[in-house]
Amino acid sequence: MLEPALYVVATPIGNLQDMTPRAVEVLQQVELIAAEDTRHSARLMAHFGIDTRLVSVHEHNERQRIESIVHQLASGSSVALISDAGTPLISDPGYVVVKGVREQGYRVVPVPGCVAFVAALSAAGLPTDRFVFEGFLPHKASARKQQLKGLLDESRTLIFYESPHRILASIKDMLEVFGAERRVAVARELTKTYETIHVDKLSALLEWMESDSNQQRGEFVVLVEGVSSEQKPELDARALEVLDILLAELPASQAASLAAKLTGLKKKVLYQAALDR
Ligand code: SAM
Repeated sequence: MLEPALYVVATPIGNLQDMTPRAVEVLQQVELIAAEDTRHSARLMAHFGIDTRLVSVHEHNERQRIESIVHQLASGSSVALISDAGTPLISDPGYVVVKGVREQGYRVVPVPGCVAFVAALSAAGLPTDRFVFEGFLPHKASARKQQLKGLLDESRTLIFYESPHRILASIKDMLEVFGAERRVAVARELTKTYETIHVDKLSALLEWMESDSNQQRGEFVVLVEGVSSEQKPELDARALEVLDILLAELPASQAASLAAKLTGLKKKVLYQAALDR
C-alpha cells in the first residue's frame, strides 16, 4: 500500500527497458495518473500492464488540475505525475502542479529515472563538474542568437534541448556566436536504435551534420563546452556586440581596430573574431 502522495515518476526516453521496477509498481498502485498526453502514455501503460485511470495534465490545464489532484490526496488516495518522456518538469509540464500540491501541504515523492540531458552529459566527455541546463532555445533566430550571446562568457558546460526542425539553425547560430573552435557534443536519439553521440569543434560538427541528413533527424541534446579561462578575458559578450555593430558598416580590419579602441581589448583577437563571424 502506497503512502498518500503525489508521485513524480520518470519514464523512458526511448528504450522501454529503462523503465524502473519502482516506476511500474507506483503507476500500478496509485489511484490516478496525471499524464502530459494520455494517448501517448496509454501505449506505455499497455506495455507494462498498468490499468490505472489516466487524466491529462498539460501546460493549459495545470492550474485546474491542482484542485482535482489535491481532492484525491485529501481523500487518502495517491496520484502519479508522468510526462511523455523522461522526468516530468524537465522541459515538460508539472511545475505548477508540484508547487501547488506542496503549498497545500501534501507530500510529493520523486521516483527518479531517465533525464535526456543527464544521459547525454554522462557519455559526451565534456566537463561534468559544473553545467548549466538551458532547455530549448527560442524558435525565432534573433531571440535565439541573443540568448546565445548572453552565454558567451559562461565557463560551465552549456546544455540545450533541440528538435529536428531547428537543429541545423541552432548549430549555425552557435558557430556564429561561440566561434569555430568551441567544442560541442550532439547526442541524438539516446537509448534508441540510431543513438549517436558526436563530439567535435563547432565548425567541423556543422560540416559533418550538413553532409548527412540522417544526422538531422530525431531528438537532440546539444552540449557546448564552457569558455576556457584563457579565452574569457579577451572576448566577452559586450565586446562581440560592439564588433558586430561595427562589422555591419566596416571591413573586418577597420572594425577590429575601432573595436579595440572602444573595448581596450587586443586588435588581433578582435580581428580573428571578426573573421570567424
Ligand atoms: N522530460 C524529458 C527529460 O527528462 O529529458 C525531456 C522532455 S522535452 C519536451 C523533449 C526533448 O528532450 C527533446 O526535444 C530532446 O531535446 C530531448 N530528448 C528527449 N529524449 C531524447 C533522446 N532519446 N535523445 C536525445 N534527446 C532527447
